[in-house]
Amino acid sequence: MNKNTLIDFTQRLIRQPSPSCQEGSVAQIVLDEMKRLGYDRVWVDENGSAIGMIEGALPGPTLLFDAHTDTVGIAPGSVWTREPFGAEIADACLYGRGAADMKGALAAMLHAAGSVDKSKLGGKVVVSASVMEEVYEGGALKTVMAEVKPDFVVIGEASELNLVLGGRGRAEIHLETIGKPSHSSSPHLGVNAIHLMMKVIQAVDTIELGEHPLMGPGILALTDIISEPYPAYSVIPARCKATYDRRLLPGETVEDVLGVITSLPELKDINLNAKIAEGEHQAYTGKVLTCNKFFPAWELEESHPFAQKALNGLRASGLDPDMKAYRFCTNAAYSIGEAGIPTLGFGPGAESDAHVVDEKISLDELGKAALGYKGIIETVLCGVMPQNKW
Ligand SMILES: [Zn+2]
Repeated sequence: MNKNTLIDFTQRLIRQPSPSCQEGSVAQIVLDEMKRLGYDRVWVDENGSAIGMIEGALPGPTLLFDAHTDTVGIAPGSVWTREPFGAEIADACLYGRGAADMKGALAAMLHAAGSVDKSKLGGKVVVSASVMEEVYEGGALKTVMAEVKPDFVVIGEASELNLVLGGRGRAEIHLETIGKPSHSSSPHLGVNAIHLMMKVIQAVDTIELGEHPLMGPGILALTDIISEPYPAYSVIPARCKATYDRRLLPGETVEDVLGVITSLPELKDINLNAKIAEGEHQAYTGKVLTCNKFFPAWELEESHPFAQKALNGLRASGLDPDMKAYRFCTNAAYSIGEAGIPTLGFGPGAESDAHVVDEKISLDELGKAALGYKGIIETVLCGVMPQNKW
């Protein structure tokens, strides 16, 4: 690995804007780089995720590294002091949208995998530059995994070079109260769905949520509310809808999160529907992905051999990782939360660096992340203690 080449490649990724569902040109840059580094197989799947595989000389498991290529946009009115797509270097940091979330991680894992000695490699290393994570966590990774069938997954989301062994999940809950319409000059003839929803909201506020030592508290936050018809001219509204954002802890299921609401005794006389929201997103390839917006929390035991080998690999690469959990939701919601494949997180930058004005990544962390990814590959697939340095 060469650090200047790594920095240069990260700059090229940042200079190509790639909001969700428009990642095509970044995918092309990724494919070209994988080919240049001698990956054995390089392709794009039906959603447009770019995937590269390196086959070892020896048999063994498949280790998948995943980084999403989409980024959030530049909020109108937000004032950057650096050019968002300029990939400027200043104060030993690289600036630009996607630097921390997560083009830096993508570049680091892509170069780390490309530098592994294949003659010592027992198994396969795959790098996926997946699409659409910001709008549908796990959706594109599911397609990648169906093809690659990994035994282990590393998610490269920002962890400040710590080892992430869990993550909060998220769900979007739609509640709907059903009343009875009437002329608003005779409200007593109808049942006002807004009044019903006010009772629901009050009752939902009394729900007690659990707490997790690494992930923090579960969350149930009201994010929007609308009545039907809207606007209502001289009519008592018969329907009212509210959306809640729910942050999930390990073990919480769809039945749990909906059941705790619908079984509230205060609501037994209210005509209430509760369901998980659905969404639909079209990839840049034209493929349409539909999703149920329930992304489970996940956890990997610290004693799991994959976690232990990864930890050894990071330490032997000169890092000193703590164990932590992601507070945000990532593609791991699918890889381990749904599919049950042992997954951990490791990446440069901090969660708080994501989605911000003047997003940046420290060049030192970028380099250390690449050494760490290489260390994980060597302990998991080569059975050797890494001796990586720049
Ligand atoms: Zn991310």
